[in-house]
Amino acid sequence: LLTVRGLAKSFGATPVLRSIDLDVPAGTVTTLIGPSGSGKTTLLRCLNGLEVPEAGTVTVSGGPSVDFGDAVSQRRLAALRDCSAMVFQHYNLFPHKTVLDNVIEGPVIVQRRPRPEAVAEATALLERVGLGEKRDAYPFSLSGGQQQRVGIVRALALKPRLLLFDEPTSALDPELVGDVLSLMRELAAEGWTMVVATHELQFAREVANEVLFMDGGVIVERGRRRRCSAARTRSARGASCSG
Ligand code: ATP
Repeated sequence: LLTVRGLAKSFGATPVLRSIDLDVPAGTVTTLIGPSGSGKTTLLRCLNGLEVPEAGTVTVSGGPSVDFGDAVSQRRLAALRDCSAMVFQHYNLFPHKTVLDNVIEGPVIVQRRPRPEAVAEATALLERVGLGEKRDAYPFSLSGGQQQRVGIVRALALKPRLLLFDEPTSALDPELVGDVLSLMRELAAEGWTMVVATHELQFAREVANEVLFMDGGVIVERGRRRRCSAARTRSARGASCSG
């Protein structure tokens, strides 16, 4: 589903990613492990166009192919952005919006889908993760684990082809980590294509089809596991992505 070749990114004179190659087949989970500062977050942000690399290509099958060595049009970058949704370490929910409004913001404002349809889908997703009753609550009244489940629902509501997770449990109290990881396990078993930066080594080993170890902006080791036979691709279910 996702092919990355020769991706390079610097901040000022400091190279942060050096010639990263990555293949993420549809319906698989790739985990990124590595010390703080090794480039995991930057790589995820490059995959969905939140950061613009200096070199390399990112190709989404059936979607955009972006060569960052050339001048990249905003249209191409937007097409790349549309393919994925990010779950952030610190949830990044809008504090002044209710849970429901946080979830429907992307579908209604960005994707211009009809509000009633977005509300119905968001409500079903929130019920699925046990947060149906929190629909009209504000983020501050939720636990970190609940906020992160809203963060995941917000990503799912965009129906992306690729889910990107940036250390989704790092900010949580230990007793809240389990709920979020079990939701992520469910999503993996459903066949979502996921790239997950994490410090949860057990999760990385158990769930990932491929574990990538990063250090100094380089993938220094790759560990592959069997392909998930139960995987069904999101694209087969009509998830959208243009380019
Ligand atoms: P952590 O596990 O601590 O989140 P990470 O592996 O995700 O670390 P990155 O956040 O990608 O690492 O950071 C890689 C390097 O890039 C670090 O040295 C960081 O200081 C630097 N960096 C990241 N973002 C910026 C930025 N916007 N401007 C300048 N330097 C940056």
